[in-house]
Amino acid sequence: MNIYALSPDEQLAAMESSADGLSDAEVIKRQKKYGYNAIEKRRGKNYVREYLVQYVQFFAILLEVAAVLSLIANRYAPGEGYDILGFAIFGAVVVNATFAFWQEYRADKTVEALRKLIPSSITVRRNGENQKIKAVSLVPGDILILEEGDRIGADAVVISENSLYVNNATLNGESRPARRNTEPTEAESPLDAKNAVFAGTTVTSGNAIALVTTTGENTEFGKIASLAGNVRKRLTPMQKEIIRITRILTYAALFMGAVFLVLGYLSGKGLLMAAIFALALVVANVPEGMLPTITLSLSLASQNMAKRNALIKNLDSAQTLGSATVICTDKTGTLTRNEMTVREIYLTGGEEITVTGEGYSQEGDFEYSGGNDTSEERLEQFLNAGRLNCRARFSGEENFGDPTELAIVAAANKKMPATDDYEKTGEFPFTSDRKMMSSVYVHEGRNYLFSKGAFEILLPLSTHYMNSEGRAVPYDEASKREFLEKAESFEKRAYRVLAVAFREGEKEEKLTMLGLVAIMDLPREEVYEAIKKCRRAGIRVMMLTGDNPNTARAIAEKIGMHVDITLTGDELRRMPDDELRETLTSHCVLCARMRSEQKLRIATLLQTNGEVVAMTGDGVNDAPALRKADIGISMGIKGTEVAREASDMILLDDNFASIVAAIEEGRTVYFNIKKFVTYILSSNIPEIVPYILQFFLRIPLPLSVIQILTIDLGSDMLPGLALGSEKPEDDIMNRPPVGKDERILDAEVFKRGYFFLGAIEGTAAMVAFLGFLFLSGWQYGDLSITNSTLHYQAMTMTLLGAITCQLMNVWTLRSWENSAFSRGLFTNKLLIVAIIIEIIWIVMILTVPPVQYIFNTAYVPLPFLILLIPFPILLFVLHELYKWRIRTKREKNTPKKPGEDEAGCGEDIPNVC
Ligand code: ATP
Repeated sequence: MNIYALSPDEQLAAMESSADGLSDAEVIKRQKKYGYNAIEKRRGKNYVREYLVQYVQFFAILLEVAAVLSLIANRYAPGEGYDILGFAIFGAVVVNATFAFWQEYRADKTVEALRKLIPSSITVRRNGENQKIKAVSLVPGDILILEEGDRIGADAVVISENSLYVNNATLNGESRPARRNTEPTEAESPLDAKNAVFAGTTVTSGNAIALVTTTGENTEFGKIASLAGNVRKRLTPMQKEIIRITRILTYAALFMGAVFLVLGYLSGKGLLMAAIFALALVVANVPEGMLPTITLSLSLASQNMAKRNALIKNLDSAQTLGSATVICTDKTGTLTRNEMTVREIYLTGGEEITVTGEGYSQEGDFEYSGGNDTSEERLEQFLNAGRLNCRARFSGEENFGDPTELAIVAAANKKMPATDDYEKTGEFPFTSDRKMMSSVYVHEGRNYLFSKGAFEILLPLSTHYMNSEGRAVPYDEASKREFLEKAESFEKRAYRVLAVAFREGEKEEKLTMLGLVAIMDLPREEVYEAIKKCRRAGIRVMMLTGDNPNTARAIAEKIGMHVDITLTGDELRRMPDDELRETLTSHCVLCARMRSEQKLRIATLLQTNGEVVAMTGDGVNDAPALRKADIGISMGIKGTEVAREASDMILLDDNFASIVAAIEEGRTVYFNIKKFVTYILSSNIPEIVPYILQFFLRIPLPLSVIQILTIDLGSDMLPGLALGSEKPEDDIMNRPPVGKDERILDAEVFKRGYFFLGAIEGTAAMVAFLGFLFLSGWQYGDLSITNSTLHYQAMTMTLLGAITCQLMNVWTLRSWENSAFSRGLFTNKLLIVAIIIEIIWIVMILTVPPVQYIFNTAYVPLPFLILLIPFPILLFVLHELYKWRIRTKREKNTPKKPGEDEAGCGEDIPNVC
């Protein structure tokens, strides 16, 4: 049977469905028969395999070789502890592999959980009701309700439509919109059937009802997808950057390892021992845990963002958000609540009518100013025309459709119930670019067209208006002027203004104007604060809206948004690139009555100015701008699927304030990664210094291989991770954006990690080691104590020197630039756990014999431990001073402008709106 050759009624019968859709029981039955509507069977990750892979990573192999060498050494020199060393190194491999696996697993799970938050957006009719469902639960026979911007969830035939155009580029590469209708065709291939729509394609414009014919892998898209097979996931720029850095550090470490191998051998250690040392040193110097820790930090950051209603699709976006310098936002629903209420109506006969009642309440009154005995009738005609031309509807407590339309329907319902003596026969759908829509009805044998939309679009199409006596009379200039003045006065009061007109006939021309409806869409409460935050954070906010300039400016004023130039779409079009770029750089611009494609131009010009652009959008035509922007932001509630696909971030609540919250998290993760990498690098110095000194001085070995691994793969891990999950600092949004070209792992990280904090720790470790030895009566040059209790005690001191410094380091590094005291003591729970574990570990090293046996440590009498106290304190104080100097330098470089208030949001902040 060729379903495309049938009429819509026959198609419904063939699929054993109906215009009301399937029943729930039938859906379950069909799901069992046809399976889920998914192209790729959900193959879970094989976690056992993922875990085992950790053991064959380059660094794990290095350690394993070291362990095997130790066991071999034990055969030649039994009783010297090589066997313990070998097993301990194996232990380190296990700990490292498990920790890395755990981090990757958690990051995976977080991303998976976030994916589930992506809003479902397929609308179907089942049991006679429209409902939103996940695409996977579609079955053949389902009735799809398709609107502009929807992604089509399965292959289907169109059973009714209004100016339906689809984009089939995913199937045939043709990106021009293709017209679809309900006419049966005898086409050989479904791709040629004009009444077929396909899974994976999108609705460019218009709307339709379609009947699902095929789901899952049997769809045309499914066939292509299974042919293409699995596509390898590409590395993100951030991952590439980390791999690059790790590679550089690895080469440096390998070089150092080779030098130590030679030196060790020359100093008479024996080849085996020298090789073990060298390998341990390589492992100690390579931050092998960096990639999983950064991935986990980013995924935790994205989880925090999701908690604050911003869902990012790619972990790297978390970092890019921290660099955003401009937010281009639309107005309706993002800055405003998108809860529309009709407050006033103006009839062209001259009446002004105030409408009472809040929200979408269907109850309220109409208070007339002026009027005559035809006013009531004309108001009814106006409201009827408005309501008939709305697709939105109320169904019990629920409502479906566009808020602007819901407001109009609610207002009409306040006046009179809907009747069914009008039969809809056609529609000219609304698009943001047309800024109007019309519906055609048959009533008592005659055709009527009802239009609504932006008044400056409808007015030129109107040749008549309804006068105060209820007669359609030709428009004269005075009446047009009066109409425009009224519209303008509504706009200036921040109303969204729509004109309503009608005619007998079917064309969008020669209309009779009925009046204006003024709809209030209040600004969101949180937006005022968010705008203020942006100012302090050096982020410019620009409003790009389809609404008119007066309303947009009135809203901007209410939310405290600074505007010094308002441009309309037409003005933008006329402006050459250079001039527009200049204007965008040096002014706070508000763009009204914009066309979607102009957003792309604005994003491009801002980017050529070096700005990092976050741009919101919800419609099909916004997709190119969302892709172009550094961060494309789509809407979870009102956005189209096409916009969501093109974006990097989805706002679950459509709220502007959530963008600002996400930027705050983005900046936080940027600094958190810096903090923990610095922390990890710091402890490399007390690990290397003892080795270097041992070659130049006549001292016993200050730190054993196993002890190095204890620090790197043990005591550093949890505190490092805790730093990666620090909460945002209070002033994080009072700083300028992170520069686009600034790298997380920059020279400052290495300078601070190795040469400042690391240097102090290295000194601490050596002072603890040598101090202990001298105080115990050791004579310089006496190597006979090697492997004696005294030697183990001294090595314990070195180890503790490093660990205690790291304990303090983690506290002072909680803030990258601010005082450690600015962070609450108990605000990072993971850190508290890490510190407690660390302290228990120190006690174990000192007192528990089996631990001492494995880790070459020994009990050190308490008085000697005093040697460990000064350096952590010194490290803390010096690092606090270091940060203080950075702060003063920064303050000096950003002098306060005259007129700037305490919060730094004065009018004179350069380039910041
Ligand atoms: P933003 O771009 O900030 O979301 P907006 O919602 O006003 O603002 P559009 O949705 O593009 O932008 O609407 C543009 C204009 O089209 C509106 O100002 C209004 O005059 C008109 N309009 C909006 N919705 C409808 C509708 N359902 N039917 C007819 N005209 C509409």
